[in-house]
Amino acid sequence: MTRRAFAAFFLLVTLVASCGTLAGSPPPDRAQQGGARATPCKGTGDDFPGDVKLARCLTEWFWANRFGQSGETYRPITRFVAYEGNDGPDCGGQQAVPENAFYCPYGHFVAYDAAWLKAMYDRMGDGAVYVVIPHELGHAVQAQLVDDFRYNVQRELQADCYAGATLGGLIQARALRAEEGDEEELLVNLEAAGDPTDAWWAPDAHGTPQQRQGYFAQGYNEGVGAC
Ligand SMILES: [Zn+2]
Repeated sequence: MTRRAFAAFFLLVTLVASCGTLAGSPPPDRAQQGGARATPCKGTGDDFPGDVKLARCLTEWFWANRFGQSGETYRPITRFVAYEGNDGPDCGGQQAVPENAFYCPYGHFVAYDAAWLKAMYDRMGDGAVYVVIPHELGHAVQAQLVDDFRYNVQRELQADCYAGATLGGLIQARALRAEEGDEEELLVNLEAAGDPTDAWWAPDAHGTPQQRQGYFAQGYNEGVGAC
């Protein structure tokens, strides 16, 4: 395929389907049935650096279109910083921590520990990149909209929903294609992506694995409006 198959997404939908939540491929967008939509994104995403670049480009392309449809202008992030371990960029006086990816509102940039993301990519496939990058860019979108969440977990789950909506939209536009991937390993990783407890009030709460999958699937199936 011209764009690297997105393995993670397929499993996620399968997984959520087994929980009884709405799932399956989103209805094809009639306007797109003529073929793949041209994107400004170069490369095929055949390796880790290619996938990271493509995930960022496609996600920002998706949001630029989405904002444009509402008569708004999406503000692209200013920097996309790869770091390793402790040498990450500072965000508003706070030092980046190893094994993380984050959006920084001070400077409007996204940074990620490249070795950490690459390890996930190697372990569970390209899906890791297509969940993490759209999630962080989802925070960049939130920063441009009303962002008055009472609890951090709400912000995190909306970013998951945005990530799902981004991928669903890209698949509809045929900029990405979903394929079945390594289900076993991905399942383990999705489990790990959620919080170990449902202490949703905690300032660093991201949601339980089930919540994260559910919000992601909701965005994927129903689009940005459902987030
Ligand atoms: Zn987040």
